[in-house]
Amino acid sequence: MSASQIPPATAVTGDDVPTLLVKIFGKDRPGITAGLFDTLAAYSVDVVDIEQVVTRGRITLCALVTAPSPGQGATGSSEGDLRATVHSWAESLNLQAEIISGRGDNRPRGTGRSHVTVLGHPLTAESAAAIAAAITSTGGNIDRIFRLAKYPVTAVEFAVSGAATEALRSVLAPEAAQLGVDVAVVAAGLQRRAQRLVVMDVDSTLIQDEVIELFAAHAGCEAEVAEVTTAAMRGELDFEQSLHARVELLGGLDASVVEAVRKEVRLTPGARTLVRTLKRLGYQVGVVSGGFTQVTDALKEELGLDFASANTLEIVDGKLTGRVTGAIVDRAGKARLLREFAQQAGVPLAQTVAIGDGANDLDMLNAAGLGVAFNAKPVVREAAHTAVNVPFLDTVLYLLGITRDEVEAADTHE
Ligand SMILES: [Mg+2]
Repeated sequence: MSASQIPPATAVTGDDVPTLLVKIFGKDRPGITAGLFDTLAAYSVDVVDIEQVVTRGRITLCALVTAPSPGQGATGSSEGDLRATVHSWAESLNLQAEIISGRGDNRPRGTGRSHVTVLGHPLTAESAAAIAAAITSTGGNIDRIFRLAKYPVTAVEFAVSGAATEALRSVLAPEAAQLGVDVAVVAAGLQRRAQRLVVMDVDSTLIQDEVIELFAAHAGCEAEVAEVTTAAMRGELDFEQSLHARVELLGGLDASVVEAVRKEVRLTPGARTLVRTLKRLGYQVGVVSGGFTQVTDALKEELGLDFASANTLEIVDGKLTGRVTGAIVDRAGKARLLREFAQQAGVPLAQTVAIGDGANDLDMLNAAGLGVAFNAKPVVREAAHTAVNVPFLDTVLYLLGITRDEVEAADTHE
C-alpha cells in the first residue's frame, strides 16, 4: 500500500459503538489465544484491546472486540451466535467463558500517572491491602498490577492513574514505614524509561563497610575515630571538621595499609548485578564518597564505573600524613558532583538516580530525579523520594521497572 492509500487514522471504536468483553479463564495450554481469536474471526469483529496473564498455570485472557453486525458470521447470525460459539469452544477445552455486552473502549485513564513499586520481604496480604487502600484514598485508580520479582524480595508494581505522584508519595511513605515494606512512587512517562545516570554513595551503600573504620582498625584508633563520628552525628562537628579530625588519627600509618583496606572492602549484595545491568542498559554509573579515592578508584576499575570522586589521603614517603589533599567531598560536594557527572554524561538532572544512606547524601538525593535512601537512617529515609530497607542493592532495578526475569535473561545470554 502506498502512502496515499493509507486510510486516515481513526479509533477502532467510538463511545457508542457496541463492544463485547470476552473473558476466558482456566488451565493454560498452548493454542488458547489462537483458538479464541480463530473463533471470533468467523464473525469479522475487530480487536479493541487484549490483556492476558498466566498465574500458576491458569490463564486469564480478556479480549475487547467490536460486536458483530447482524448478518456477519458463518451462519449469517450475529451476537447471540457468537456467544454460543465461544461458549461451546471454551467448554470443549474445559475453560470458563464470560461475555459482557457494552459500549465503546476502556474508560479513559485519569490524568496523573505513576508507577508504585512495593518491595516486601515477605509481602503480606495485610500490606497489599493497606497499600491498595492508600492509593484509593488519594483518588488514584489501580489500572494494572504485575510482579517484577520474587527474589530476593517480592516486588510488585501498581500502575496508577488519576492521582498526582507527589500526593501518592506523601500518603504511601508513612504507610510503608508502618508496614515495614518499601514503596517507591515514580511518575510514569518517557522520563522513566530515559533515566540514564545512576550515582551512588560508597560507604554503607555500594559497600558494606565504612572505609575510615577499616583504616582506623589498622591504626589501632577505632575508638577515637568512633568518638569523632558520634560527635559529628550529634551535630558538634560538621563533616569537614570530622573528616580532618579522623584522618589526623591515621597519620604515620604505612601506605601499604591502603592495599590491605582495598582487600577488606565488601561489596553490598546485589552491587555487581546492579552495575552490570545498568551498564547493559546503556546507563552511566558513578560514585561519590566522603571516603577516599584510594578505595573508590579501585572500585571504579573493578566495576567498570564511569565516574568516581572522593577525598584523597595524602601520602608522603610511604606514610599517611594524616591530611587530605584537594577539595573536600562533603554533603554539598556530593550534590555538586551529581550535577557535574550529569553534565558530562549529557543527562538532564531529572533523569538521574542517586542512592545513599547518610545525612551527607541528602542534597544529592533531593537534587536527583529519583533519590533512593538505601537502608538509611530515619532522617534520610523521611526526606528522600523513596526508601529501600532490604540489604540488596539490585532491588533498585525494580524501582526502575526492570524485572528479575529480564536481569537473569541478560545474564544467561551474555
Ligand atoms: Mg554512606
